[in-house]
Parts: sequence; C-alpha cells; structure tokens
Amino acid sequence: MRILVPVKHVPDLQSQRSFTDGSVTRTADDGTMNELDENAVEAALQLVEAAGEGEVIALTVGGPDADAAVRKALQLGATSAIHVSDVALAGSDVFGTASVIAAAVRKVHDESPLDLVITGMAALDGLTSMLPTALAAGLGWPQATLASELSVADGAVTVVQHHPDAHVTLSAPLPAVVSVTDELNKPRFPNFKLIMAARKAEIPVWTLADLGLDPASVGAGAARTTVLDASERPPRENRQIVTDKGEGGAALATFLIERGLA
Ligand SMILES: Cc1cc2nc3c(=O)[nH]c(=O)nc-3n(C[C@H](O)[C@H](O)[C@H](O)COP(=O)(O)OP(=O)(O)OC[C@H]3O[C@@H](n4cnc5c(N)ncnc54)[C@H](O)[C@@H]3O)c2cc1C
Repeated sequence: MRILVPVKHVPDLQSQRSFTDGSVTRTADDGTMNELDENAVEAALQLVEAAGEGEVIALTVGGPDADAAVRKALQLGATSAIHVSDVALAGSDVFGTASVIAAAVRKVHDESPLDLVITGMAALDGLTSMLPTALAAGLGWPQATLASELSVADGAVTVVQHHPDAHVTLSAPLPAVVSVTDELNKPRFPNFKLIMAARKAEIPVWTLADLGLDPASVGAGAARTTVLDASERPPRENRQIVTDKGEGGAALATFLIERGLA
C-alpha cells in the first residue's frame, strides 16, 4: 500500500501570534507540523503496517522552514519525504496550494501508483478545511472527508463519519483522498532512532519547474481569496485573575454569586 500524506508547516499555537499585512508572521524557529496532520500520518502508518508492506510519503509545500514539517513526519515513521518550495509560491491561497500538491501527487503517482492521499481535517493556522476537497477535485479522484473510522479492502476505502446524531459510512474506489479527524487514532510518539534518522534524512526539494507548473498560476498574484484584515484580538475586558493561595474556591463562588450565575 502506498500512501502520501500532505503535512503543513504551521506556527506553534502555544507561541504569541502577530500579523504582517494580513498574514501570520512566521519566524524560522516558531514552526512545527500541523498537529492534526499527526493523525493523518498515524492513519497511513497503521494501514501500511496492517497490509504488511508499502510506504508512507510525507509531502509539504512551503518555504525553506517547512522542511521541519516533513522531518516531524519522518520522526513518526514516514518512509520518505518531499518538500515543494519555490519563491513564486509566496502568498498562495488554498487553490494555489492545492494545485501544487495535486501536481506533486501526480508526479509521485506516475512514478509508482499511490493508493491513497490522507490529509488532516484542517490546518490549525489557515483553518479552511478546504484543501483536501480542492486537492481531490484537482486530481479528479474520489474523496471521503472527516474519517473517524477508516479501513481499506478490495480496492476501496471505507470511512465512517461521526455526526452528533448519526454515523455515516462512505466508500470510494482507490486511489482516493481521505481527510481524517483527531478521533480516528492516537498518534504515536517519535522514538530516538527515528528522531536521529529524520535529522540526517535527505529530503528532495521540488520547484514549480519540476512539477511543470507556471509560476503565474500560483502565489499572491493568482490568489482567488484575499485576507481583508487580520489583527490581534483585543484583550478581554472585565477579567479578574485570582492567584489561588487557598481562597480560590471562595473567590470563584463570590464572583458567580455577584453576577447572578449561582
Ligand atoms: C509558500 C506559501 C505561502 C503562503 N502564503 C499565504 C499568505 O500569505 N496568505 C494566505 O492567506 N495564505 C497563504 N498560503 C496558503 C495557506 O497557507 C494554506 O497552505 C492554504 O490556504 C491551505 O489552507 P489551510 O491552511 O486552511 O488548510 P486546510 O484546508 O485547513 O488543511 C487541511 C489539510 O491539508 C493539508 N495541507 C494544507 N496546507 C498544506 C501545505 N501547505 N502543505 C502540505 N499539506 C497541506 C494538511 O494535511 C491539512 O491538515 C501560503 C501557502 C504557501 C505554500
């Protein structure tokens, strides 16, 4: 079984966020693999392990620092990695990014056929959840979204979506694109051997020319969506912070009673 997992390099959510011209300010030492993509890597590893053969290829599209995202996937156990990077990509929107990932998937698939592309359910910075669908449309492959259960048998993938009042089962012939939720599995921790190997791994960097893409079709100039504004959230008003020295419970009760909430 051959599975490709796109993984996004995103700013660390625990760090202080700021914005430049409507985009998140990204710094070299502040990036990590999108946390929800760990579920996608885990899903791919489990399917390959269950099949007893195959490979998991991690792919990222982004600037030089995005290398960290695919190295994290290698630490988790991905077999190999690809980094698509090109200055013309700067300012790409979800459609541009998806077209680049689709071209890279096609290149990999043409060299040796893939069975699946597994993505996370969303990237925790852009949070459009649109890329998996745009990617499936670009490839012309069937898509099953938001898998909370996932299996492959007889040339088809089956996913179960968990809705509040129903479970929906979908099936699609391979090759297909699947996005997975964080309910699907518990991502493994990297082991020391894989951490060391990931550090040294040679990761090919593909440019737009390698993918046969016109630079004018991606980047800020080709973006169909525009971020009109992005600014820091104003500090919350009426906040009362109590440093608990034993009277925290009483202070909380008083706070609630004063507001008629208890
Ligand atoms: C070099 C570059 C510069 C960009 N600059 C800007 C900018 O200035 N302003 C702006 O608004 N947008 C920019 N983008 C686009 C944006 O960062 C996203 O990649 C794109 O919009 C996808 O949407 P999302 O992050 O909401 O992903 P979602 O649709 O929420 O992500 C779903 C899943 O898709 C996969 N995925 C998403 N993005 C990538 C990726 N890049 N590589 C691999 N897998 C991925 C992950 O598995 C993720 O879990 C840029 C993209 C690139 C590559």
